[in-house]
Amino acid sequence: MLRLVAGNWKMNGSLAANRALLDQLVVVPGVEMAVCVPYPYLAQLQDRPSGLQLGAQDVSEHEAGAYTGEVSAAMLGEFGCRYVIVGHSERRALFGEADLVVGRKARAAQAAGMVPIVCVGETLDERDGGQVMAVIGRQLAAVLDVVGVEAMARLVLAYEPVWAIGTGRSATAGQVAEVHGGIRAWLRAHGVDAKRVRILYGGSVKPDNAAAIFAAVDVDGGLIGGASLVAEDFMAICRAAADAV
Ligand code: PEP
Repeated sequence: MLRLVAGNWKMNGSLAANRALLDQLVVVPGVEMAVCVPYPYLAQLQDRPSGLQLGAQDVSEHEAGAYTGEVSAAMLGEFGCRYVIVGHSERRALFGEADLVVGRKARAAQAAGMVPIVCVGETLDERDGGQVMAVIGRQLAAVLDVVGVEAMARLVLAYEPVWAIGTGRSATAGQVAEVHGGIRAWLRAHGVDAKRVRILYGGSVKPDNAAAIFAAVDVDGGLIGGASLVAEDFMAICRAAADAV
């Protein structure tokens, strides 16, 4: 399975800064690279290095109509988005996005021909309380209930422990392998063709820890926040993904 490394720019960038970043980005062979950018920059990203996939960071669960401020999956499709992040922990925690809404957003993205990158992961309190797979199982079950078994195998999952996002404190390769294995086992137990599902890790991935993380069992790529804003770092992480066996 070709690894996927997706950059999540979050609410960062400007026309000038994006151009400077894109001018430095060279697509790395042997890995699929994507950038998930703020909505207004989707137009600018029509001009990007060939082979670099485009994605968004959220999508409406609704198709069209009186939903002020929302952006539909069809609109993202018109701009050539292949991926859309759904259920990022920042959206869950800061914008009250519930498990069921995440499932509906994943369904909307798939209905428009895109691949949702569904984020799951525990807080530090939940980890300390031994709740890691209980929390992730609940998050996955909500998506499975909405999209169904067959479609579940066509999405990308991102394990993003909340305590590792933007903190500089990455999970260890051992912790990542354990949870990714747990996610694949959960999928199998629920009738999903688990080997088809790419499971990314996200949370303070940097050039100096990327090789160890990508070498861990069941890691099919990464979701990269801060480091995706620095071309050299993003490319180094992509090279680590391409080189991992
Ligand atoms: C993210 O926002 O998905 C993320 C993983 O951020 P960071 O790499 O900055 O921890």
